[in-house]
Amino acid sequence: MNNYPKIGPTVTMFVPYDCNNACPFCVNKQEYRDTSSFDLERCYKSLDLMDRIFPYNDVVLTGGEPLADIDCLGEIIDHIKPTHHLYINTTLPVGEDQTIEEVASKLNRYKDRISCINVSRHLEHYVKECDDRIFDLLEFPHRINCVVFEDAKLEDTQQKLIGVLDRFKGHEIQLRANYSFLRLDNVFDKDNDNLFKFISSICEYKGDLEKERFRTGFLFEREGSKITYHKTLPFAKVDGYVGDIIIRQTGRIYDDWNEYGEELNINDLALIEYK
Ligand code: SF4
Repeated sequence: MNNYPKIGPTVTMFVPYDCNNACPFCVNKQEYRDTSSFDLERCYKSLDLMDRIFPYNDVVLTGGEPLADIDCLGEIIDHIKPTHHLYINTTLPVGEDQTIEEVASKLNRYKDRISCINVSRHLEHYVKECDDRIFDLLEFPHRINCVVFEDAKLEDTQQKLIGVLDRFKGHEIQLRANYSFLRLDNVFDKDNDNLFKFISSICEYKGDLEKERFRTGFLFEREGSKITYHKTLPFAKVDGYVGDIIIRQTGRIYDDWNEYGEELNINDLALIEYK
């Protein structure tokens, strides 16, 4: 596993493959409606360009679905130099003609390259889920990624949330606030955050995670599980600072997500505080 210190903003690449799900909180889905301008070769060129500027940063593959074509995912991973920490956001799809053993074995070939995969498992089954035993077959870090879209004050939501924590006991679980409600004035707030209050009531609070301009997080523990609660704005460019560089499915480079993003102005990169 790569031990280089992270330097520079994260580069997030939206892979040119759709997920075939329809999560109600999805902010990426509309990007996949028209695939005619998707260009993987240009994505590679953009990854190369970003690598020359930030050779030691984090690279995130997201979508859509990075595992929609697992062989192509291998080619993308091979294209990313091992100096980068590589994270993959996925629903961990297992096709009808595949087994969990086959999918895990293909992924395990990249166990020295993948820093972590974030696997979506929400309170409702918004995504097609495979057998949970796949998590015991993975030979590299994984994290359950659960967006709590529902109202955390409701008894039903609370019971379902406990159900997810019980189901994935022993695994790392990342609970995510519904980002469509987050703004600059409430993203760092704990006092009026019902989800934070509920998690605190059922888990042991261990402290705050590192705060960035566009996100924050809190660390908890429950019955052997490391649980984090993340609040992330639906945009990453704050006061001119670029927090996350996006490579779109077209291969074009943007300074922010979705409708917030504009084609990257290279001068903005001079404003980033390097670690
Ligand atoms: S799986 Fe991810 S990309 Fe697909 S609809 Fe759900 S949130 Fe959106």
